[in-house]
Amino acid sequence: MTTQQTETRRFEAEVQELLGLMIHSLYTEKDIFLRELISNASDACDKLRIEALTNEGLLAADEELQIRLEADKEARTLSVIDNGIGMSRDELAENLGTIARSGTRAFLERLKEAKGEAAAELIGQFGVGFYSSFMVADEVVVTSRRAGSDTGARWASKADGTYTLEDTDVAERGTRVTLHLKPLEGEGDADTDPDFTDSWTLRSVVKRHSDFVEHPIRMEVERQEPELDDEGKPKEGGATKTVVSTETLNSRKPLWSRDPKEIEDEEYNEFYRHIAHDFSEPGRVVHLRAEVPVEFSALLYVPKQKAMMFAEDPQAKSKLLLYVKRVLIMPDCADLLPPWLRFVRGVVDCPDLPLNVSRQTLQANPITRRIQKHLVSKVLGALGEMLEKEREDYETFFDAHGRVLKEGIYQGADDDQRLSKLCLFPSSTQDELTTLGGYVERMPEDQEAIWYLAGMDRETAAASPHLEAFRAKDREVLLMTDPVDEWMLQRLQAFDEKPLKAVDRGEVDLEDDTAKEAREAQEAEHKDLLQAMRAVLQEDVAEVRFSSRLKDSAAVLVGTEGGVSPAMERVMREVQGMDLPKTKRVLELNAEHPVVARLQGFHADEARSQDLEDYTRLLYGQALIAEGSPVPDPAGFAKLVTRLMVGAGA
Ligand code: ADP
Repeated sequence: MTTQQTETRRFEAEVQELLGLMIHSLYTEKDIFLRELISNASDACDKLRIEALTNEGLLAADEELQIRLEADKEARTLSVIDNGIGMSRDELAENLGTIARSGTRAFLERLKEAKGEAAAELIGQFGVGFYSSFMVADEVVVTSRRAGSDTGARWASKADGTYTLEDTDVAERGTRVTLHLKPLEGEGDADTDPDFTDSWTLRSVVKRHSDFVEHPIRMEVERQEPELDDEGKPKEGGATKTVVSTETLNSRKPLWSRDPKEIEDEEYNEFYRHIAHDFSEPGRVVHLRAEVPVEFSALLYVPKQKAMMFAEDPQAKSKLLLYVKRVLIMPDCADLLPPWLRFVRGVVDCPDLPLNVSRQTLQANPITRRIQKHLVSKVLGALGEMLEKEREDYETFFDAHGRVLKEGIYQGADDDQRLSKLCLFPSSTQDELTTLGGYVERMPEDQEAIWYLAGMDRETAAASPHLEAFRAKDREVLLMTDPVDEWMLQRLQAFDEKPLKAVDRGEVDLEDDTAKEAREAQEAEHKDLLQAMRAVLQEDVAEVRFSSRLKDSAAVLVGTEGGVSPAMERVMREVQGMDLPKTKRVLELNAEHPVVARLQGFHADEARSQDLEDYTRLLYGQALIAEGSPVPDPAGFAKLVTRLMVGAGA
């Protein structure tokens, strides 16, 4: 409930903590506050314009949306003024008294650790824009009037844990943020302690950080001009007068409509920071202009790093800024890129779309599909180029966003394999990550399939018994150890016409004929033993047989060809609640391993049938542990191990 009187409210604890950190630890990069305030003002203008599309009374046809800076040297104040959407009293309290965002705690913890640039980077990512005013101001006063309302409100704080709110008359719609700047310390040293009432300083900060802002950023500047005599010549004695004129500080030329050849990297980077809230450099910039079949321009960025977890769109949709003739009409358009490119940030400007296009009509508009197709192809092209030419950056990118690309494969968007070509995987024979293409190039002629091992973490995979025979034969195996890999593999069944096969499922064909004959002979010889073991494990395994996969280990579990890994089965059962029938796998033994002779000994001696049972269970449990699966009865298994330890050597 709002009241007429002035009320004093406490900041949310998180806000207060954030303010404390801002004031005390961020000495560098002070000038970012201006960018943040201008950015808020610009957003407010955009919001008004978007609201005015459906509410005509809000914005007169000839009214210009603009941002103004007003500096007062004597009073040491700086105001950032906009005629945008404005805020009601409640909105002031809501927006400038709380941080309505999950992950704030985690953010604060990280901010406490970070210093200098890293801290500024974090702040930008989190978007705590407004509060950065307190880096330079002792007191901040915000007066505002919401579009469509007659009453205004005033918010003020000295960052002392509280703020005040009151109703007040505000002549014009929009918001005025006034900073009561801290006293200058460095005697006007522009580098260490810039004077933010100085027009030269303000001009250069705006140029540096906010030049591309679409709305004009204006300021009245005073200039000394020579006084002229009647003939228009400077008067003798060099007398001057002060002339005040309004200057627009930003060039406003949208970056995407400029010629790429004339754009400096730093300009691209600054714009990226502005739209992506990411202070690291982008991995790749895609700037394109198309004329046919649809006219549009786009400026897209592939980020290198992962956005902070709370910046990830929970709906997993892509979001680009959509402009029509340089007017922002949708700040988070989901239809211009598929969800599996949602890490891309950027702007699309399409003059062929109507200004009042709605989300629904946009989806149905054939122009959208055409643009999307074009953009997808450009982004994938840029990623391919990055993979080829900037391998290190690409790896950073892939580490952060590769999963999203894999999602695209799973969703069936990879008929042409452009996505699978971009994936990187660890490999059993390579120190570096490899592409599928790289694997295929290294494949010996007689190898038909691309082999992989999935469903476990990287260490477990690298040590898996399943790799033994492959190692012995110098055959490479991809370690698909990202939890999303198995989902992806449900779709990605072949690459470059080579089937992808799991090493731990079905048959592997690494034996030559002699080895195969020898194994079959041993199997015949030990037929009874294998059957007796199968009888012990009849609840758990479909078969016990000798293996063509093992070299050092005694036993391993093998699934059926085309089946999923035990880890995936657990996810399907436990996380997704699927009612799957129990799949029995095959326990394969290493015929050359001394333990087989031991087992044969127990089998031959009726008195040792308990030993045969124990050893069989032990081998089965070991095989489960080696693949990272839980043993079904851990306490029972532990007891079994202890019993065998005590009886060892007997
Ligand atoms: P962010 O801009 O990242 O949301 P801020 O702390 O800078 O974070 O601003 C919080 C909110 O306050 C904004 O989301 C916006 O709703 C509101 N706000 C800030 N400045 C203005 C302004 N000049 N006009 C209207 N609303 C504003």
